[in-house]
Amino acid sequence: MTINLHSVSSSSLSMSLLLPSLRPLFSDGDVSSLIELRRDLHRHPELSWQENRTATRLAEVVAALGAETVTRVAGTGVVARFAGRDRSAPLVAVRGDIDALPIEEATGLPFSSSAPGVMHACGHDIHGTWAVGAAMMLARNPAAGDVLVVLQPAEEVGEGAKAILETGALDDVKAIFGGHVDRRFAVGQVVADAGPLAASADTFEIELVGKGAHGARPHESADPVVGAAALITALQTIVARRIDPAAAAVVTVGSIHAGTAPNIIPERATLTGTLRATTPETRAAIGTEVRRIAESIAESYRLTAHATVHLGTPPIVNPPNAAAWARQAASTVLGEAAVVPFGLTNMGGEDFAFYLERMPGCFMRIGAREDGGERLAAHSPRFTAAEESIFVGAAVLAESARVASAALKGA
Ligand SMILES: [Zn+2]
Ligand SMILES: [Zn+2]
Repeated sequence: MTINLHSVSSSSLSMSLLLPSLRPLFSDGDVSSLIELRRDLHRHPELSWQENRTATRLAEVVAALGAETVTRVAGTGVVARFAGRDRSAPLVAVRGDIDALPIEEATGLPFSSSAPGVMHACGHDIHGTWAVGAAMMLARNPAAGDVLVVLQPAEEVGEGAKAILETGALDDVKAIFGGHVDRRFAVGQVVADAGPLAASADTFEIELVGKGAHGARPHESADPVVGAAALITALQTIVARRIDPAAAAVVTVGSIHAGTAPNIIPERATLTGTLRATTPETRAAIGTEVRRIAESIAESYRLTAHATVHLGTPPIVNPPNAAAWARQAASTVLGEAAVVPFGLTNMGGEDFAFYLERMPGCFMRIGAREDGGERLAAHSPRFTAAEESIFVGAAVLAESARVASAALKGA
């Protein structure tokens, strides 16, 4: 691996970038190679489904770490298998997503994006790197069973996890672990709560069809504009009056289109929006209510409704057993105080949820705010995660795989 560290001096690398409890796990050489990898990925961001350079580079790196097999899957995904101590023990997986966003970078970092209008603004450069770091740890100190290191494309468009599952590459996996950098938490803090951690992200489209007329002769029309106004208000009663107030949910109408002129009542109006929920039950209820209310409001305004709900990513609901394995892993490598509760509800979506529909696992939030740093949100042109979080993510993912593997073997 080429070492090109810019501002970081190699003599003090492990001391400056590693939390004390992680120092026995990473040599200066490990630290510099992972930092170099992260900066290289950051400098060359690629959009969802275009991660060719990224996948090629990551495949080379995991092969060099001693992966038994390295397979390109779903186009720009990579799955690498690291041998366990007992080949008959259950298979587990760790996942890092690798795609970037269509944002012009404004961090001013010396390794800023070289691709105009494309940026690692969600920290997936770190996620890819910590998956490689986990591979490094597992090659040295294997889990009971084999571990798959999954480098996943196209998370930002909510398609990559599903595509990898459809290849069958993870069919034998018994537990999967992943995480997201989070600047609301300091480097060294890890959230691995059981229960809801990210919301479902579905979209809807409703077309209201009526009868057009002259704007001065409304009695000859069936006015979809008035119907749309009533429908928007009625849709807000789903969260207010249909969903348990203790369950989080969102119904947002994000666009409405109708009409061409001030004095013409149009024939149709189209509304689109997003639906969020933190449990599968709430998600299903919201979708049903959107369709029901669209049809009944349309009926009362003499309109016809065509309502479609497009299912996106499911909610992430960490099952208790896998969350406990992840918390145990984080306590082992960082100390018990490192494990903190989420303490908030995240209505963003994350396609790791597709894995959890098929197998147990835990999605973590990994603290990525350096000392005195700002609480920047992901998807900001100024977003960057603290480099120290690479080693936290790597160590916690590797240890989660070991804990899960041992627990599943004993089960
Ligand atoms: Zn993102
Ligand atoms: Zn992300």
